[in-house]
Amino acid sequence: MRYLITGGAGFIGSHLSEELLRRGHEVFVVDDLSTGSINNINHLKDNKKFHYVIDTCSNVQLMAELVDGCDQIFHLAAAVGVKLIVESPVRTIETNIKLTEIMLNAAHKKKKPMFIASTSEVYGKSTDLPFKEDGDLVMGATTKGRWSYACSKAIDEFLAIAYWKEKKLPTVLARLFNTVGPRQTGQYGMVVPNFVKQALTGQPITVYGDGKQSRCFTHVSDVVRALIGLMDLGESAYGNVYNIGNNNEISITDLAKQVREICQSKSEIVYIPYEKAYEHGFEDMPRRVPDLSKVQKAIDWKPTIPLQQILNDVIAFHRKTE
Ligand code: UDP
Repeated sequence: MRYLITGGAGFIGSHLSEELLRRGHEVFVVDDLSTGSINNINHLKDNKKFHYVIDTCSNVQLMAELVDGCDQIFHLAAAVGVKLIVESPVRTIETNIKLTEIMLNAAHKKKKPMFIASTSEVYGKSTDLPFKEDGDLVMGATTKGRWSYACSKAIDEFLAIAYWKEKKLPTVLARLFNTVGPRQTGQYGMVVPNFVKQALTGQPITVYGDGKQSRCFTHVSDVVRALIGLMDLGESAYGNVYNIGNNNEISITDLAKQVREICQSKSEIVYIPYEKAYEHGFEDMPRRVPDLSKVQKAIDWKPTIPLQQILNDVIAFHRKTE
């Protein structure tokens, strides 16, 4: 099969490219390197089945050509990271909505099945845990930049589902919960690479808020397996949304302690108020846990890599590259 991956030089996109190549497929990547990096795909360049273009998905002509030449599309190009989202809301909203519109339109013209990456952020402030795909989405005020990301991704979901319902374009959506692993950069605020870098360099480990908020972390290789599995499922996945994540919760304070311990670091753990870390009035989610029954039923998928191993992997990557 020939796959087009938008955002293929990003953290998740590069792992997806690698796995599809490993399975013998041909991969075409398009990435504008805005948050992705050529370093993420350098090791794939010698593979004859790997092709890449450095350009943006807003190049409609190019997208039409690339879509025409492939069998399926993974649309992963999007604004990522809470820090980037808070600092650049225009870029976030425009990137997430415009690019998805362009890709859906191009896919529709050639009737190519398309996967669209969404996010657990769409559950917003919901307290109806664990989050189920058909549960209510609870957003905050439009004056708070963070929610623009959740809303823009929710619009992507509406649009992808509408393309399936109205135009019969095969679309599949996944809400990715906190995905971590090698190649993820802390540059856009993600907690695990941030903590690992701080612990390895002996800098203070910066816990935002009171550290009692919790998250569930999934290894990128488990995530990639789920994305491919959902697209391989075919018809019964079309027009559907799936949670992809792990349901083992850890508080951010405990995460900081665990990272410090594995790194054998002497870094102190410091607490930083949200308004200093992000912006005045910033709202965080106290908990975020996926209900995984839908994806389990569909493709018999569960995450397999425990947090300790995920952290070992991330730490080994940072030790090697920094
Ligand atoms: N966080 C933190 N220190 C950091 C970066 C993040 O304490 O250096 C917190 C953040 O406030 C959130 C959690 O860690 O409560 C996860 O943050 P991340 O940005 O990785 O993902 P989110 O789940 O917020 O999308």
